[in-house]
Amino acid sequence: MRSPVMKRVLVTGGAGFLGSHLCERLLERGYFVICVDNYLTGSRENIAHLKANPRFEVIEHDIIEPLSVDVDEIYNLACPASPVHYQHDPVHTLKTSVVGSLNLLELARRLGARILQASTSEVYGDPDVHPQCESYWGNVNPIGPRACYDEGKRCAETLFFDYNRRHGVPVKVARIFNTYGPRMHQNDGRIVSNFVLQALRAQPLTVYGDGSQTRSFCYVADLAEALERLMGSPEGVVGPVNLGNPTELSVLDLAKRVLSLTRSSSKIEFLPLPIDDPRRRRPDISQARELLGWQPSTDLDAGLKRTIANFRARLTGHPKLVSSVAGAGPDSVGAVAASPS
Ligand code: NAD
Ligand code: UDP
Repeated sequence: MRSPVMKRVLVTGGAGFLGSHLCERLLERGYFVICVDNYLTGSRENIAHLKANPRFEVIEHDIIEPLSVDVDEIYNLACPASPVHYQHDPVHTLKTSVVGSLNLLELARRLGARILQASTSEVYGDPDVHPQCESYWGNVNPIGPRACYDEGKRCAETLFFDYNRRHGVPVKVARIFNTYGPRMHQNDGRIVSNFVLQALRAQPLTVYGDGSQTRSFCYVADLAEALERLMGSPEGVVGPVNLGNPTELSVLDLAKRVLSLTRSSSKIEFLPLPIDDPRRRRPDISQARELLGWQPSTDLDAGLKRTIANFRARLTGHPKLVSSVAGAGPDSVGAVAASPS
């Protein structure tokens, strides 16, 4: 292990939504941060504000190819996360989770580095157990359109645990539940980005099915904190650990919250439910509470207000608001009708 004076940390997918917030946080800790990304769903804009930092390095690279960098810790976040994005090139999505994880686990083995996998609540599929606890093995359709993501992430978890058992690699597996916040991709088709944009543009909010399906939404700053805590946990803590906000609400209720917070005149439009769309999702976070001393602290309205402010700034091109993400942003955000950026 290198001198603890300046820890060197690799974040794959560092130019993405979650990854850019994590890079920011790790730089604030004083670490040297290497961001690896192929810009499939991330963007240079997401990390533009970090580029001047001499402790920040960016490497354009696809993790399905082997990688050689010298680091103490690896956060593997590289993978498209929204159903629209991960289904766009399903074979590449699978390769990213499976071949990409193998490449990074080999790197961790060679270096003796800690490695954390950004797994997902999707490993539970359309769950029969509610809320979902880590001991539940899940209910995944292995041949459906979501399988490239779900099965890829499940296989990645298998690889992480095999490398831990076989080679003693210090692994950490985080099962992340729906996370939202500033810098979400504007066209990723996810519920929060869709609803906020639709409300700000005074377009109908597209509710799939009858809107009774549920999700539990975690604000991105809370999630980044949880990832850092998991990485720093004792070596015996390998996970999987659920990370998310246990406050569950229906898709229809979220639409109403967004309409109220944006004071938008948008109507609600009901569209067909996508295939294999999970009916209920809520994390049991007892493990995260016990092992990491973590629970989310941002309530939905506060997080949504910051997210709305950031989307509104991007639509109107207001530079100060675009860069203000973590805790800032006006609390009241009116509806704007803007053209797509
Ligand atoms: P995102 O799409 O914004 O970020 C993913 C990043 O990975 C992007 O910058 C993308 O360009 C990069 N990437 C994709 N494939 C790559 C490859 N083969 N090589 C190199 N870079 C690649 O998504 P996100 O929401 O920030 O999610 C980050 C991670 O967290 C993903 O692994 C995702 O599965 C996981 N996760 C996210 C959520 C959530 O709600 N946001 C929930 C569960 C799990
Ligand atoms: N959804 C919706 N309208 C949208 C986008 C999504 O009703 O415009 C629903 C979707 O069918 C799912 C939930 O919102 O039930 C969450 O979808 P998302 O794609 O954000 O994430 P998922 O949890 O399905 O991966």
